[in-house]
Amino acid sequence: HTQDFFVSTKPAHGKVGRVPVGIGRRRMRIVVTGGAGFVGSHLVDKLIGRGDEVIVIDNFFTGRKENVVHLFGNPRFELIRHDVVEPVLLEVDQIYHLACPASPVHYKYNPVKTIKTNVMGTLNMLGLAKRVGARFLLTSTSEVYGDPLQHPQKETYWGNVNPIGERSCYDEGKRTAETLTMDYHRGASVEVRIARIFNTYGPRMCLDDGRVVSNFVAQAIRKQPMTVYGDGKQTRSFQYVSDLVDGLVALMEGEHIGPFNLGNPGEFTMLELAEVVKDTIDPSASIEYKPNTADDPHMRKPDISKAKELLNWEPKIPLREGLPLMVNDFRNRILNQDEGKGA
Ligand code: UDP
Repeated sequence: HTQDFFVSTKPAHGKVGRVPVGIGRRRMRIVVTGGAGFVGSHLVDKLIGRGDEVIVIDNFFTGRKENVVHLFGNPRFELIRHDVVEPVLLEVDQIYHLACPASPVHYKYNPVKTIKTNVMGTLNMLGLAKRVGARFLLTSTSEVYGDPLQHPQKETYWGNVNPIGERSCYDEGKRTAETLTMDYHRGASVEVRIARIFNTYGPRMCLDDGRVVSNFVAQAIRKQPMTVYGDGKQTRSFQYVSDLVDGLVALMEGEHIGPFNLGNPGEFTMLELAEVVKDTIDPSASIEYKPNTADDPHMRKPDISKAKELLNWEPKIPLREGLPLMVNDFRNRILNQDEGKGA
């Protein structure tokens, strides 16, 4: 594209000026599928913030206009209600492909739709990348490792996935999406990047998406018991959303295809997580045990040495620092919801 190399900004002295977008970098046009979702909207903020043009595609199944409403009116921002299962044609330089429900509750709600999103949605966006010569980044998942028999998980591990289970629409769907991405790379020379994202939390997570961090935080705020599934000894490693967004951009801008694990190696049992939420929100919060869901991975922790070495990336925010950063956002939205204004 030959669009102009400059962004209009208001410099400190108050005059509108024309400044380069970074040193030697031109403004890009970038599409973010799922850009009205939790991770997507934080990514969009970063891309807009550094001076690029962003087109968000979202069908609002789990995404929310509220997550991007602060960008309405910005001439470098566009929002399209569109489902990636249908093709779309846009002239862009980069495609961040995030669209897919990611919480087990949401992706199991309509499993056929979930696998269609992963397979047809990814196929459509790869087709677009090929046609317009854009660089394509797939957000895959730690779920490709299934219930892992290696710990921590390295990118070289092929996983232990049930192909016919309740989670398959998501984990097999993402595995197929990785396959498609590599086939478009090898067969059609599309420039691709693959991120395997581990559990992530932060402001703008759906309040009621059933994930453990959002559940515990919302429950503690509402003075309800925190629901621990199973014996609570299963582990996860929780990454703050800004660390993930930094990793996604480093991957897109870098020279390496991946796959790269993007996660925080700090590993917690669900009972330990409940303790952190108690310390952060309400020391009197209690716990209630509930049966666990099918095929729940027993442990999960990323080995991030590859991303450290090749992307020069590692997470900066430990759980005890990140959790307080989402509490205000949750409090406000819960207050609005309880007052009947919707969240
Ligand atoms: N979990 C829990 N209580 C909840 C929700 C989830 O104990 O209210 C557990 C769940 O059984 C799993 C872990 O927390 O072992 C992480 O679940 P989540 O749905 O957040 O994400 P997953 O890593 O399974 O995709």
